[in-house]
Amino acid sequence: MALPTPPGYRALDDKSLPQYLADLDDVRRLLGGKPEQWTVREVGDGNLNLVFIVEGPAGGVCVKQALPYVRAAGESWPMPLERAFFESSYYAAVAPYVGGLIPTIYHYSPTLYCTVMERLTPHVIQRREMIVGRRHPKAAPDVGEYIARASFFTSDLAGAFERKMDMAAIFAKNQPPVRITTELIFADPYRTNPRNRWTSPQLDEVCADFHRDGPLKAAAVRFGDKFLSGAQALIHGDLHTGSVMVTPTDTRVIDPEFAMMGPIGFDLGAYMGNLLLSWYSQPGHATAADDRKAMQAWILEQVTIFWETFRDRFLALWRSNANGDAYPVSMFSAPSDVPFLEGARRTYVDSLFADMLGFGACKMIRRILGFAHNIDFEWIKDRDRRGAAETGALLMARTLLTCPEQFHSINDVVAAVPYFVRKPGAAGQPIRL
Ligand code: ADP
Ligand code: MG
Repeated sequence: MALPTPPGYRALDDKSLPQYLADLDDVRRLLGGKPEQWTVREVGDGNLNLVFIVEGPAGGVCVKQALPYVRAAGESWPMPLERAFFESSYYAAVAPYVGGLIPTIYHYSPTLYCTVMERLTPHVIQRREMIVGRRHPKAAPDVGEYIARASFFTSDLAGAFERKMDMAAIFAKNQPPVRITTELIFADPYRTNPRNRWTSPQLDEVCADFHRDGPLKAAAVRFGDKFLSGAQALIHGDLHTGSVMVTPTDTRVIDPEFAMMGPIGFDLGAYMGNLLLSWYSQPGHATAADDRKAMQAWILEQVTIFWETFRDRFLALWRSNANGDAYPVSMFSAPSDVPFLEGARRTYVDSLFADMLGFGACKMIRRILGFAHNIDFEWIKDRDRRGAAETGALLMARTLLTCPEQFHSINDVVAAVPYFVRKPGAAGQPIRL
């Protein structure tokens, strides 16, 4: 059952939306003309919310409204409306630091649980672009820069712990997404649950194998715990390639409704893991004219660029903005101290790298054996090809989780990826490495 909604809440439609927007002076001016001239299109391809594009003679806006249930599952899966508040609160918290890498937010309505924001055009979702083999070279470095800025400036490295704790007090109430993440990412893919699905029969064997794999499950629960207890910074919470809108020259991060105080590696892993999922899905989208080999090579370059941009930017921000209660620079004032401070910072960033790999692997596995799947694989019609692509991704993810000592640098990751390529048709056989 959908939850009861507060007074004043109604799901917006093409009639009530222009009425609501007409009362917002700046939005009315932005759209131009009269409300009767405005066109409304519902474009939400997401799992949870209504998303409208409204266009007037002078311009457009995007309006995102929470529904009292999970859209992808229907009214039988209730979900509180408050996530819209946390989404707009996240945007407000990171806006001073991330420049133009998020949409401009015009309004938030606490009664309608909706956000009126910049309509991104001609931006498109990066995931969809990768499926059709189109490359957007700015995306990976921009997302690396984005995570560096958003996470550094909301961490104890940049400011007083009181400021971070005040932020934590707000986002601690965004609990339903945390429950979804905890169950759907860190538990269900490794146990029997009616919400799970996978490409069957092609993946039956490997799925059963994962459910029996003790070392794998031990690694997954470790990262599940880290997700819950590692409150390093304000994180986006769902930063996959479907939350990134791109043009050849511009990148925007959207959809932060899963925002929480959490481990920085969770956002890093979401993006990296989804780049790798795209890599494994590419053969499923190959045509006679394009075998996608060049696209795959490009994706691996993006993995390296993403991580290196993040690492370099995070360290540079830290060197020039070390005003936090953690790692106080005043303890390292003598010239002889400098290498020790720098070493401590490098150790911190190395731990983010290890977290990125672990969380990234968990993100990959949940998209193949869990509830919510990716169109990267779902759009591969031939089930043998799809199963083969998914099996490769699963085996890479399992290696990242169970053999972390093999991955000292991003080059080690990139070198390992092509090793886990399966042939269509072979995927139904038991696989043990
Ligand atoms: P959900 O949380 O329900 O998944 P999203 O925030 O991901 O919703 O938005 C769903 C879709 O709506 C996006 O994939 C994108 O196509 C479109 N969209 C979202 N925000 C904007 C925007 N500001 N401008 C243009 N399109 C947008
Ligand atoms: Mg969402």
